[in-house]
This record gives sequence, structure tokens and C-alpha cells, in this order.
Amino acid sequence: MTTLPKLIDPYARAITYLRVSVTDRCDFRCVYCMSENMTFLPKKELLSLEELDRLCSAFISQGVRKLRITGGEPLVRKNIMTFFKSISRHIETGDLDELTLTTNGSQLKRYAADLVACGVKRVNISLDTLDAEKFAKITRWGRLAQVLEGVDAALAAGLKVKINTVALKDDNQDELYKMLSWCADLGLDLTFIEVMPMGDIGNEDRLDQYWSLKDLRTELTTRYTLSDLSETTGGPARYVRLEETGQKVGFITPMSHNFCESCNRVRLTCTGQLFQCLGQEDEVDLRQVLRAHETDTPLVEAIHAAIALKPKGHDFDYSRQKIAGEMTRHMSHTGG
Ligand code: SAM
Ligand code: SF4
Repeated sequence: MTTLPKLIDPYARAITYLRVSVTDRCDFRCVYCMSENMTFLPKKELLSLEELDRLCSAFISQGVRKLRITGGEPLVRKNIMTFFKSISRHIETGDLDELTLTTNGSQLKRYAADLVACGVKRVNISLDTLDAEKFAKITRWGRLAQVLEGVDAALAAGLKVKINTVALKDDNQDELYKMLSWCADLGLDLTFIEVMPMGDIGNEDRLDQYWSLKDLRTELTTRYTLSDLSETTGGPARYVRLEETGQKVGFITPMSHNFCESCNRVRLTCTGQLFQCLGQEDEVDLRQVLRAHETDTPLVEAIHAAIALKPKGHDFDYSRQKIAGEMTRHMSHTGG
């Protein structure tokens, strides 16, 4: 490989974290993420598992230390464990610090032990409600019991679990304390996410769904003393400790506050497009470079050229009761 310097963007941010969407498909149809009748990409557009490995490995050779596999639902991609097994060699060599994934949990009962065998230590499981009916309404196609079994399987396999909950005004505002105590009982960290304007979601209205985490945080202070924690993962999440219980709670607030200045990540779609920012349309086609060359040097050069174009930040804004900075692509395409 070339001896180009590691990945540093124009704002002096070192890029050490790659999120990879391995499929745009999913076994759920969450109301804030997809429309009910989603059209998915033709299969031939997708990178093969071997191509995904080659691309991820090129990033790792250039200093990426953390890989998060996401989607769509990553665990519904056919033969996905082949990819995990193969990419885990970089954990063994020490070139990669962390291999992890974000999942809706539906397939964890089947795969949790295999993931651990591939060096995965932590998973983020998305779960917005503990009420079976509401769960069915939010995910349209999902069953709560299956996800709860997935959470149990992950814990039994020794995975550390973080729950990601999208804050939804009408759907889970009333479950704030229930979610907190469920997570506390099982020893799970909990992070809340603001609804972002990503992709067409049919008849649903995101302004109706949006529950600002500023308001959620204010609600929490009526019961708990919140202490800010200094830790970050270079992303938009910020953490507090609830002094009364010791529980850690995260807030991902791209809408009401962004933390672009410390951004350390880029995102690769399942078709090999590199998005340097979740909230901007700019993209670089790495699939074309990958397929045009058998050696990795042009690919590494294209990765560096892409990082040199990483924008300063996104423009999401829900203020004044209108949505600004909206993205046409879905989260499931870019990978959440
Ligand atoms: N299917 C997996 C899952 O649900 O965890 C991984 C992909 S999903 C796109 C990743 C995360 O993005 C989930 O936590 C989901 O709740 C979140 N998400 C999806 N659409 C979103 C949106 N419009 N705004 C905020 N978060 C969103
Ligand atoms: Fe699927 Fe995850 Fe999107 Fe829900 S949030 S539809 S589980 S990709």
C-alpha cells in the first residue's frame, strides 16, 4: 500500500471510525426510518461481502481503528457471518481496536455467540418501547418478544449492550422512566436519539414525531441529579450520570445541538458510496474505483481524496416549525 499520511480531514480531524451499511434491507419498517412500501436497491448494486472486506481493510490500513457494521438490518444480509469472521483478522492483528454493530436485535438469538467468536464485544440494540403494541406500531413488522430474546441472548453471550431509543413525542414520551429502570435492572446503557430528517417516510410527519432531547433532559432533572460526563466517542453523543442510580444516559442531539467539530467518522453505504457527513449530500463512489483496479493503491488514493473533501458539518434544523437540511436518502442506506 502507499505511504500516504493517515486520514486527516481539512479541519484537522483524524478519521479513525468507519460505519458501514452492509445492506439497505430490513425485517422491520420503523415509521421514522422507512415508508411501508420501501423500494430496495437491486441486489447487483450491492457490494459483495468480499468487496466490503476489501474496502474496510483499505480503510483499516489507513488508520481506521473502529468499525461499526450497520444497515438496514446488518444481520439479515445473507452470509453476513462470513464477513464478520473475515474482518475479525484485523482485531487479531491489533490493527483494529473495535468491531461492533448496530442492530434491531431481531436476529441476535441466532448470532450473538458467533459475533462474540468474531471479536465483537459490544452491540447497540435499537429499541424504542417496551410495550408490545406500540412496538408493533412503530416497527410495523417487528415483534417485541423476539427483540427481548435477542437482548437476553446478547447478554448471555457476554456482549455489552447499549440500547438506542429514538425519542418520539407521541409514542415513548410516557415510557421514559420505564425504559430507564428496565435498562438499570439489566445493566444496559441507554442513549436517546433525536429524529433526523432522513429520507421519505410516506405519510408520517417528522415534526409530529420530534421530541427534543433538551425537553427530555429537563424532564429527567425533575427526578434525578444529572452530572455531565466528559467522555465522547468523537460523535454526536454526550453522556450524563444519574447520581441517584449511577446509571449512564446518552443523548444524540444532531438537531438541537451538533458536535461536528470533533467528528472522527465517515460512512460507507452498501453500494460503496462514501459519505463524509451524515447530514450532507456529498458522496464519493468508491465502488467504481474498487471494481476498476485489482490493486488497492488507487482505492487508498481515492479514500484520501474523499477525506480531503469532508465538510465542516451538517445543516439539520427543525427550528421555526419547518425542517431544514433534510436529506433525501434514508438512514438505512447510509447506515445509522
Ligand atoms: N436496523 C438497525 C437498527 O435499527 O439498529 C441498524 C440501522 S438503523 C438505520 C440505525 C439507527 O438509526 C437506529 O437506532 C434507528 O433507530 C436510527 N434511525 C433510523 N432512522 C432515523 C431517523 N430518521 N432519525 C434518527 N434516528 C434514526
Ligand atoms: Fe430497520 Fe433499523 Fe430502519 Fe428500523 S431503524 S426500519 S430496524 S433499519
